[in-house]
Amino acid sequence: MGIKHVLTIELFYAQARRIDCAHCSKPYTWIEGGDQTGRAEASVAFSDENEMRREAFRKAADPLVEVSAREQVGRGRCPHCHQLQPWMFVSKGAALIGSLVAAVVAAAIVGLITYKLGSATTAMYSGGGVAGVGILLALLFGTRLADKPGPQPDEKDDRVKTDAQLLELIQSSGNGRHDPFVSWWRATGHEPPKKAATVSLGLLDRSKSPLTVDEALTTAARTRELAAMDG
Ligand SMILES: [Zn+2]
Repeated sequence: MGIKHVLTIELFYAQARRIDCAHCSKPYTWIEGGDQTGRAEASVAFSDENEMRREAFRKAADPLVEVSAREQVGRGRCPHCHQLQPWMFVSKGAALIGSLVAAVVAAAIVGLITYKLGSATTAMYSGGGVAGVGILLALLFGTRLADKPGPQPDEKDDRVKTDAQLLELIQSSGNGRHDPFVSWWRATGHEPPKKAATVSLGLLDRSKSPLTVDEALTTAARTRELAAMDG
């Protein structure tokens, strides 16, 4: 095989998502982002730097193009009625079932390890013990992992904006000459990793009454650009 040449590319991205609230029907926008890494490797003898760069870039960019079109991504409490959208939260039932499953999986792993190390009897006891404690903890604390979907008027959420706030943000960016969404994402406490390239996934507007913004700021335009880029 020989020595491998590995090349990674990191993209730091953000997307604004506008919808009509399922509870009060008023439109609002939240911001979602993250970083995505693409990796290419080849044996040193045959590696072509440009080819690898292209491959790594596609591996980072293609998942972003895909996720940017998906309907239910991220989370933001409606700034008008202070509720989460129905798909944005973990219910009490789901939290309880999730923690019970985690307890049983932990018990199975402990059982398996002790079985490999010792006898079936110790495995049964240790696995059973972990299961017992785990299930008790799950019953006691599991539902605390659930979200509070109802109105939380006191909760401050920098990730959401009303239309007026969104338009103000777009205007303050010179109407999109500097990307407003990546700077919004950074303003909510997210810093790009060193050497990461910055990518805006634009505004995905799913409201029944879409806002009029510069075409270049839309998700459609941004992802078209990203899909055509060579790295
Ligand atoms: Zn609402």
